[in-house]
Amino acid sequence: MSSILVYLSTSDDKIRRSSLEVLSRCREIADRDGADVAVVLASGSASGLVGEAASYGADRVYAVVNPEFDGHLNAPLAALLSQIVSVESPRLVAMAGTEGAKDVVGSLSVKAGLPVLPDVSSFDVAGNEVVAVRPVMAAKKLARVRSAAPSVIVTVRSGSYAAVAKEGRGERVDYSFDYAESVGTAVLRDVASAKVGAVDLSEASVVVSAGRGVKDADGKALLEKLASTLGAAIGATRAVVENGLYPATAQIGQTGKVVSPELYIAVGISGAIQHVAGMANSRVIVAINKDEDAPIFQYATYGIVGDLYRILPALTEAIEQS
Ligand SMILES: Cc1cc2nc3c(=O)[nH]c(=O)nc-3n(C[C@H](O)[C@H](O)[C@H](O)COP(=O)(O)OP(=O)(O)OC[C@H]3O[C@@H](n4cnc5c(N)ncnc54)[C@H](O)[C@@H]3O)c2cc1C
Repeated sequence: MSSILVYLSTSDDKIRRSSLEVLSRCREIADRDGADVAVVLASGSASGLVGEAASYGADRVYAVVNPEFDGHLNAPLAALLSQIVSVESPRLVAMAGTEGAKDVVGSLSVKAGLPVLPDVSSFDVAGNEVVAVRPVMAAKKLARVRSAAPSVIVTVRSGSYAAVAKEGRGERVDYSFDYAESVGTAVLRDVASAKVGAVDLSEASVVVSAGRGVKDADGKALLEKLASTLGAAIGATRAVVENGLYPATAQIGQTGKVVSPELYIAVGISGAIQHVAGMANSRVIVAINKDEDAPIFQYATYGIVGDLYRILPALTEAIEQS
């Protein structure tokens, strides 16, 4: 195998955790198959991130330093990636399935003439095929998908792999790219932040989520206290988004965000399949619910049966004292 190309998405001058997870998986495949891992960093802070990319397994780092890439216009990024695809001719192009990746991958597929296996939870190169598993139908079923094309793009669900530090060669390739020529007619007017609380939901390693059991401002305050004690992001079910307690950007599930943190605490959430579709991949799930028959307990690693208004203060206090 020649090489594997990974696009590393950045946010707030850091490489996203979900991108490092994909890089780690690609390093593993490359070590087994004797291939190189090349990565693309395109942002104002690309230079400062070369070392981190190398420490997670990058052999070659295409560093394109331009703050305009921080603005999320898809046309220049698709143009840049398709150029680097033609330089590298990689066996596999992999990227985290972020909202930005979803925006760019169709265009990249057409420009580079490569098929896409989107939104997969595992992937591999097996003989002359790229094989992957893709959760479908609100994650109730797993589809096994494959492509025998010589080069294939995969986008990978966050949390599917662990980010494991493993030194690559880290050779920097200064790639010159004409941003203005590829930008087309799109103009970026504004970037609205979707953070609820202090931590970004899609990158968080701990998420505390509210369901309809959280009934009022008092319940919200208890949940926020637990989240800030744990340094967690705050999520929500559609029920509490629809009743106005939480913004739509916090919604997790089939029609919201898909998260897979190390720890997911479901507070007053029944466990409807449409919600579970967005969090079932979390490593450890803790459910707090007063109904011992609530379906969420079928997915939980640990369950606490009781009133969240009594449990949250005690849990927060115990964590503060530990
Ligand atoms: C097409 C479609 C798409 C959807 N997409 C999504 C989606 O993306 N995300 C999503 O979340 N939903 C989605 N839904 C809605 C989904 O079906 C459920 O209605 C919703 O997830 C229920 O939210 P909930 O668990 O907060 O509320 P409920 O189902 O009402 O559950 C509330 C839970 O809180 C517990 N409780 C109540 N009081 C307390 C207390 N004091 N202490 C402890 N526990 C308490 C109750 O026992 C109950 O189990 C979708 C539905 C459809 C049809």
